[in-house]
Amino acid sequence: MKSENHPVKLYDTTLRDGNQAIGISLSLSDKLRIAEKLSDLGIHYIEGGWPNSTNTVDTEFYRKAATLNLQAKIAAFGSTRRPGVKASDDHFLLNLVKTGAPVATIFGKSWDLHVTKVIGTSYEENLNMIGESIMFLKKHFDEVIFDAEHFFDGYKANPDYALQTLEIAQQAGTDCVVLCDTNGGMLPDEVLSLYNQVKKSIKVQIGVHMHNDSGCADANSCMAVIAGASHVQGTFNGLGERCGNANLCTIIPNLQLKRGFNLLSEQQLSMITSVSVFIAEIANVIHNVRLPYVGEAAFSHKAGAHADGVRKVRHSFEHVPPESVGNARQFVVSDQAGTSTMLEKLSSIYPGIDKKHPDVKNLLLRIKTMEAEGYQFEAADGSFELLAGEVLDHFQEPFQVKGFRVIEEKRDNGEVFSEATIKIQEGELFEHTAAEGEGPVNALDNALRKALVKFYPSLKSVRLEDFKVRVLDGRDGTESKVRVLIESSDGISRWGTVGVSTNIIEASWIALIDSLKYKLMKDIKNKGSEGVSNSGDTRKLDLQIH
Ligand SMILES: [Zn+2]
Repeated sequence: MKSENHPVKLYDTTLRDGNQAIGISLSLSDKLRIAEKLSDLGIHYIEGGWPNSTNTVDTEFYRKAATLNLQAKIAAFGSTRRPGVKASDDHFLLNLVKTGAPVATIFGKSWDLHVTKVIGTSYEENLNMIGESIMFLKKHFDEVIFDAEHFFDGYKANPDYALQTLEIAQQAGTDCVVLCDTNGGMLPDEVLSLYNQVKKSIKVQIGVHMHNDSGCADANSCMAVIAGASHVQGTFNGLGERCGNANLCTIIPNLQLKRGFNLLSEQQLSMITSVSVFIAEIANVIHNVRLPYVGEAAFSHKAGAHADGVRKVRHSFEHVPPESVGNARQFVVSDQAGTSTMLEKLSSIYPGIDKKHPDVKNLLLRIKTMEAEGYQFEAADGSFELLAGEVLDHFQEPFQVKGFRVIEEKRDNGEVFSEATIKIQEGELFEHTAAEGEGPVNALDNALRKALVKFYPSLKSVRLEDFKVRVLDGRDGTESKVRVLIESSDGISRWGTVGVSTNIIEASWIALIDSLKYKLMKDIKNKGSEGVSNSGDTRKLDLQIH
């Protein structure tokens, strides 16, 4: 089948199956914000959750989502009626009707083992539960989707019965049967062969819902769609129970860029990385850097030879152009990096830089020396840019730190008290400040900020977002070097800075100072691009931004 003549519907279940992942608990407003993003991206169906009397978030979600005028269709999720209950009396089905959503998705049992051993009913009653539930819901919804739970395991155990569950759904008027790998253990060849069996007797749309316990959820989903499935379910970033669900961030670009499926517009596809990061932020989980297509490392080149190759021919080390999915090529600076990696990173900051310039060679040498001391700049773009600014732009520190002192005191009540005092010089002026904090680094941060904000009001917006400590060599116990990585933000951009020392306070201090200096340098550059000369004496420029 030609992919352009094979429409495929994208069905997202981040808000329902994704929300069942360990560590994820989406609030009502989280769910609404995610739904808006997914709809803008061009996802066709958004499953909102399981409405019932104890789940007020999901119940309320449907009411609020209806007011958002989303392009995507909202699907209400639930199960078939219970055994021995009339469909029109079943409160699970009635809860679905109350959502007012245009689409209902219900799951039913397709594995004989679950029919008799888990819900404890007869094969026949299970088939009635599926058929009658769908017929009832068809009176209230534009579309009814049937999720055949454990379909693949069920088919392997009892193919005739598993197929009967789909056939009864088809007869009852379902718009789509979805083959679920609920336990997530299938491999692509099994999926392909079972899909081809199902296709012989099922004429309504066939979809798939894959879990990732075998590590094959994305491959299984793509395999089914390439073989003819016209509906694919998944979550963003593969969020989901256990090992997660099939990841739409991988499936969509695979099908669109590699097999020519017309799923999203080019412009929508180029938003997929930012939607993926957005959902990780809202779900309050770290965005996995190694995610295909959308991860920060997906197009980062570390080894010098790779960076050199990509610089000459982009596709020599890249399977698709990063901009097609809204990601960016990065050249990671590390001890493996050759001059070309460094130059590529530098030329993104200084377009057209002359790699033979002695200052560039000096910078390279300085970075190599610092790396030998334990510095690493991969996550410390702020420190890297600051170093480049100092060597190439002759950026000078606008202030000088004359010294600091940290007092740690454990009091009678058991509380540990931290206080820092610092002394800085700004031109002819001296500033001496003290501040308390939650621990010594926070106290230092507070004291430093308190002193500098008087001279540089823009530092008020800087927030310390993350703080990581790594012991570099454990063999020397407390004498080991530590590397401190700080992530800061001013609400517009984020940057990382790094400090290394045998003293954790000093390492933190170096990273803290770098963070604030970076912010000031960035402000000066921005001011420069708005018309103020950016060459010459940075001290003078610095005064202009006060
Ligand atoms: Zn699932």
